[in-house]
Amino acid sequence: MSELHDPATFRAALQQWLAENDLNPPDDHSLEGHIRQFARVQKALYDAGWSRYGWPEHAGGLGGPAMLRAIVGEEVVGRRLAEPGPYSMLEVLAPTMIDYAPEALAAEMVPKLLSGEEQWCQGFSEPGSGSDLASLTTRADKKGDEDRYVVNGQKVWTSFAQYSHRCILLTRTGDADTPDHQAITAFFVDLDSPGVTVRPLQTMHGVDEFCEVYFDNVEVDAARMLGKPGDGWQLAMDLLPYERSTCFWQRIAYLYSRFDTLIDEVKRDGQTVDADMGEVYLALHTLRCRSRATQHRLADGHKLGPETSIDKVLLAAAEQRLYDTAHDLLSGVIELDDTEWRTEYLYSRAATIYGGTAEVQRNIIARRLLDLGKE
Ligand SMILES: Cc1cc2nc3c(=O)[nH]c(=O)nc-3n(C[C@H](O)[C@H](O)[C@H](O)COP(=O)(O)OP(=O)(O)OC[C@H]3O[C@@H](n4cnc5c(N)ncnc54)[C@H](O)[C@@H]3O)c2cc1C
Repeated sequence: MSELHDPATFRAALQQWLAENDLNPPDDHSLEGHIRQFARVQKALYDAGWSRYGWPEHAGGLGGPAMLRAIVGEEVVGRRLAEPGPYSMLEVLAPTMIDYAPEALAAEMVPKLLSGEEQWCQGFSEPGSGSDLASLTTRADKKGDEDRYVVNGQKVWTSFAQYSHRCILLTRTGDADTPDHQAITAFFVDLDSPGVTVRPLQTMHGVDEFCEVYFDNVEVDAARMLGKPGDGWQLAMDLLPYERSTCFWQRIAYLYSRFDTLIDEVKRDGQTVDADMGEVYLALHTLRCRSRATQHRLADGHKLGPETSIDKVLLAAAEQRLYDTAHDLLSGVIELDDTEWRTEYLYSRAATIYGGTAEVQRNIIARRLLDLGKE
């Protein structure tokens, strides 16, 4: 085993490397700038080996516990070298590719994501199917006797689709009699395929973060299927726990850095750092403790499941408490000034929506963890 597989040794060596290699972002706060910077950072980390640790060797990684990749995210995003949004896509999409793609496809594609050569997106939600994901209607039909499928339909809220080369796409393949959960099939789709149209949507924080993606007779090779026909629901159930927990580890580091900035700004205003700030700290610390336990479960080889809904509820609560407190203590800044606080406050409203809404997470906790039955 490489001595770098020991988390403490790994972190110290990475910190030294980051101190010696200037990856600070240029002064460009556009989304495009963030995506460019993310690709630059990933390439440098990949070339030096860092972003390959914690990923299996058969998918281009250098092995070691999953904790190592969490450490990379924490160090990189905590220093604001890359923004948390684009960074989180790695932890959401790569594990699914590794588990469901044919081995050769995962070996070919995962390094492109880890090295920043490509960005991918997640095509799950549709205009009529968000919380009720199993009702999705984008269809994939077999093309005669050919080993190809033809996809028709629309996705929405697809984050970073306009910058993405490929999409992990959920489609309906069963007929009217197939139960929903056996009727869904996932594909890895090239977004430059004929028939794909991507239209960015502007969020209330003024950024085109997500998109509508239209599929009009888009042909996809059967070899791009992830798993077997009908495995799509299980794939979603396996992907969402990453989206509700481990992908936030680096976001937590970012929230701590914003908390430190808030303390400085509040002190500079001559205010006392009082109980409100104590509550923010408690919320962040509770979240980090929970998230740390999840990282350890993953590193110990456990499969993540519905218990990650707890991580998601804690993340949303901590993030909104931080920005609500900034709103209360930095008088008028969010309403009147064009600062990061304003865009981040507005974006924090999405924390109870993306990755599954807070209400739906509480339903999962009640039904699946507490066994309280249906409403
Ligand atoms: C910033 C952001 C990024 C996103 N990125 C992506 C992405 O990259 N890919 C992707 O596929 N999707 C993405 N999404 C979409 C996200 O997954 C959905 O918004 C989410 O699942 C909710 O679905 P919906 O918007 O259709 O709301 P709905 O499901 O229509 O919910 C509306 C309201 O009803 C409540 N509700 C629904 N069902 C129940 C229930 N059974 N019990 C109690 N309350 C209920 C919800 O909590 C919510 O308050 C993103 C969303 C955001 C905000």
